[in-house]
Amino acid sequence: MGVFNVKLQPVFDTEGAAQVIDITMVFNTAGKKKDDILFDHTLMRAVVPTMQYTTESIQLIDSHNLAIGLYTVDTKRNTHREFRIEKDILAGEELTVKFQATPRHVTESTRCGPQVAIEKDNGGLSGAGLAFLLIPATADGDVLHDIVIEWDLSSASPTTRAVCTFGEGQRVSVREKPSVLSECFFAVGPLKSYPPVVAADTEPAAPTSHSAFGMYWLSDPPFDTDDLGQQLNKLIPQMARFFGDDEQLFRVFIRRNEYKCASGRGLHRGFVFAWTPLSPKDEDMVQDFLMHEIVHNWPRLGFTTGGPEDLIDGWFNEGIAEYYSLILPYLFGTMTEDQFIERFNWRISGYYTNTDRTVKNKDVQDRFWLPGRVHRIPYQRGFMYFVQLAYKLHISNKRSLDELIREMIKLRAADKPHGINIWLSLVERELGSIARDDYNDMSEAKPIILHSDVAKVWILNSNWRLEPVKQEEFCLGFPEENLSAEPRVIAGLGWKSRAAEAGLRDGDRITLRYGFLTEADVWPKSFTMNVERGDEKTPHEITWWPRSWHKVESYQFIRSA
Ligand SMILES: [Zn+2]
Repeated sequence: MGVFNVKLQPVFDTEGAAQVIDITMVFNTAGKKKDDILFDHTLMRAVVPTMQYTTESIQLIDSHNLAIGLYTVDTKRNTHREFRIEKDILAGEELTVKFQATPRHVTESTRCGPQVAIEKDNGGLSGAGLAFLLIPATADGDVLHDIVIEWDLSSASPTTRAVCTFGEGQRVSVREKPSVLSECFFAVGPLKSYPPVVAADTEPAAPTSHSAFGMYWLSDPPFDTDDLGQQLNKLIPQMARFFGDDEQLFRVFIRRNEYKCASGRGLHRGFVFAWTPLSPKDEDMVQDFLMHEIVHNWPRLGFTTGGPEDLIDGWFNEGIAEYYSLILPYLFGTMTEDQFIERFNWRISGYYTNTDRTVKNKDVQDRFWLPGRVHRIPYQRGFMYFVQLAYKLHISNKRSLDELIREMIKLRAADKPHGINIWLSLVERELGSIARDDYNDMSEAKPIILHSDVAKVWILNSNWRLEPVKQEEFCLGFPEENLSAEPRVIAGLGWKSRAAEAGLRDGDRITLRYGFLTEADVWPKSFTMNVERGDEKTPHEITWWPRSWHKVESYQFIRSA
């Protein structure tokens, strides 16, 4: 088994802030023919650009110190760059590649996307492997290696700490496929952590270097990290056990964003999420969001087509994360029955009151990043699909949804096919032809109507009945495009809208201090904006319920007498 060595040397300025990372990777190749791909480099992840390495920015040499020529080919949608070699390389040849990662420049108005790019944060740097490492291609990348990650902190201040998904400290080793590095997260600088470093030691990294759970941040977030760390440290092992996973390793990274973005992203055995001083999130929304992100570590559908950017299967991954982020806290007793039903109702409302609910799954991808509610469809529709399925399996005394999901997780862990057809055949074995009918109906945007006693799947002797009600559709009150236009002003405000009623006016200048739409989308939540008007000195803070006056068919759980 080969060794794959990654050496990371952060370079600091005179104030001790990390500026760039010099990277050296050394490994013995399985052998390559001329024109084979040696490295894969992700260029974009959603709207986030990565390092954009070229042949000029990397240096590749063999064991005799001789340079090996490379050329690049960008893939069709310009999301990946292949580094191909100009001559044959014998199997076993030791290759050394050197390059430098620099943080991306961001401002308040940088577009929100997944937290992957190398970015500066309070004197430190953090980012996901896919954004700044060259990932070895097939034969080198997908074979188990003894991966050694070394941080050279010789020029760092004594309080500098370094961590990656596999652990903390100057030398971390793990037996894994090098390709997994793309889904690992790395951070260096004045890091704080949960569990905290216990003693002031000359080796600041020592106390947590081998612990299974760790949560890290460079800037202090506006929420209680001790409290959150404790909760996650308890919850995550419970969830791992639930999904049949014996491994303990799990790392959470928190980033502060200058720009308006508080997204999260699942990683290899962990996740990263961001907060922004521009708009704080409600505490209960942070919890719900984190549960969702954590679930992503286990159930994931294999990709039907092209790769991770394909959103065609998004309903499965987002739907199951929405499902378990609701069910598990109730099952584990951290949520009461009333809290459970309240949140269940919010999710059901979201599904029925989405103004774009008739968009079919096949059209979701093209419209995902456009203004409107299409990007909520995979979450809401997928959730309803799994709720309906859990019920059908339950009342026909078949294997439970949990069992089927665990089977999918096992297939994925064993690197066996776990795409949509495998999933449908598992369901078909239990329910027959209904499996494909329900899937097709869901894909075609046919409304999912749940049975009135669906709550009994999770609540013994449930007295909750799902009843039809009329509810207001989501409605901001003005075109969502206003938020991203240049200049950002309110134009086309619905004069009868709740926004207008609350005091918003056409011509108001939109500051970046407004709520997150994904949060405003949650049934009872209001939306707050800070706008500037005319030459008035103080901005107006305006809050309203972002809902139309018009009501549509929906359902809610009501306690029966
Ligand atoms: Zn998700």
